[in-house]
Amino acid sequence: MKLKIGIIGAGVAGLASAVRMASRGHEVEVWEANAYPGGKLSEFQLGEYRFDAGPSLFTMPSYVETLFDIAGEKCEDHFAYHRLEVVCNYFWEDGTQLSAYADPEIFSEELHKKLGVPKGVFEKILKDSQRKYDIAGEIFLEKSLHKFSTWMQPKILKAMLLIPTLDLFTSMHMVNKRFYKNPKLVQLLNRYATYNGSNPYKAPGLLTVIPHFEYNIGAFIPKGGMNKITQAMFTLAQRKGVQFHFDKQVEEILVKNGHAEGIKVEGQSLEYDKVISNMDVYSTYKKLLPQAKHPERTLQQERSTSAVIFYWGIKKEFSELDVHNIIFSKDYKHEFEIMSDGNITDDPTVYINITKKYVPTDAPTGCENWFVMVNAPFNRDQDWDQLIARTRKNIIEKVNRILKINLENLIVQESLLDPRTIESRTSSHLGALYGSSSNNKMAAFMRHANFSSRIKDLYFCGGSVHPGGGIPLCLLSAKIVDEIINP
Ligand code: FAD
Repeated sequence: MKLKIGIIGAGVAGLASAVRMASRGHEVEVWEANAYPGGKLSEFQLGEYRFDAGPSLFTMPSYVETLFDIAGEKCEDHFAYHRLEVVCNYFWEDGTQLSAYADPEIFSEELHKKLGVPKGVFEKILKDSQRKYDIAGEIFLEKSLHKFSTWMQPKILKAMLLIPTLDLFTSMHMVNKRFYKNPKLVQLLNRYATYNGSNPYKAPGLLTVIPHFEYNIGAFIPKGGMNKITQAMFTLAQRKGVQFHFDKQVEEILVKNGHAEGIKVEGQSLEYDKVISNMDVYSTYKKLLPQAKHPERTLQQERSTSAVIFYWGIKKEFSELDVHNIIFSKDYKHEFEIMSDGNITDDPTVYINITKKYVPTDAPTGCENWFVMVNAPFNRDQDWDQLIARTRKNIIEKVNRILKINLENLIVQESLLDPRTIESRTSSHLGALYGSSSNNKMAAFMRHANFSSRIKDLYFCGGSVHPGGGIPLCLLSAKIVDEIINP
């Protein structure tokens, strides 16, 4: 049956949902508060420098390709990407520097040479990561955890028996230490908790599944930069007949007799058979469904971390830097402890992303576009101006020490993103990057479902609901919604 579907928000999950629904033959309209698609995954220009505003690491490109398959088009005609040979360059203050090569054998050699890690340890780590993915990937990422039918599938029942081997009840840090107790290797592996805004000293060991995505499957960069992911899905949705309305903030989800019947935009009621919200689930309930009963226990889950990002146009090129670069803090545990108190350490781990390394037009000749990010607590009305000024100074001093430069003199363009602006630009509650954190063992079960159990015909996709934040999981949330609406 052809349905009329209204989607709130054109973030990656909203776009993927639009492609999927339109490819099923439904009539789809997307309402977006911003003037552009992509939400956090967008781009902007600062003089001659182009920047991707949010995500910088692209994994699981097959989830984007699937959308083209579903739509009956060839992905390579519209979207191309490149596998990175060096996933990330890592720097420590004691002068240690290593490159995480995509090829596990070469990386293992590098870990041996630079950190003295015996050969074979990294391969063992990746094997365990893959084992966890093979057991848990489908259950935790690709299916609704909130549908009885999921738990009744023989494959899932079999996987359930192996759950005790998934390190759900041990912290990620303890699991990482189990393989080899080199503090730098453990720090490098602990960093994967930040991929969903969590604390490695609290998050369950199951998150050690993340390196599987980055090394066994790969880290990629889209040709032309990250925003091409948004553009590819947006134009695909348009070709499938999806109608987009930009600069249109949805004000209310209309509910009658327990059914979502439509939405209200600029005072006008619009009827739909189904409503899909790509807006942060907390904000959806609080702003668009003020009269409804809210699932408070789910909504009050601790938020994930946020970030402070400096976009700097730099009038110099650095051969020692690659697309992804990390300068680690001296005390990683302290960094997370301080963050849980709502503060940023004076010695933060600094991430520098430079797309110019692969996209020559992103900065003038001899220059680079630096996206410099530190993890930050979610917004609790801290004195952000003071915190940001202090952090900027700390970052510059740290980069100066590592690269032996005077960074301040090289910055010719500058812009900033912080928890306040992340919240105001995308309605992400408290500016969290990934919805709720995964800082407890039950986190996967505590995320909001991809549908409302109280309001029929209302569905949720995006980083704040199951299966979680990050582009790949957002794309999977759209898949789960699709399978629920079109069983
Ligand atoms: P969002 O991007 O949150 O978009 C929601 C959309 O809904 C917005 O466009 C908003 O305007 C719209 N909206 C909200 N309310 C309304 C309303 N009432 N009416 C109409 N429209 C509305 N992920 C990775 O995979 N790799 C990374 O390297 C990575 N790094 C990141 C770095 C940063 C700085 C940030 C901010 C995020 C990063 N992420 C990364 C996370 C990733 O960006 C997100 O998980 C993902 O983009 C979220 O997509 P979404 O579909 O949930 O929607």
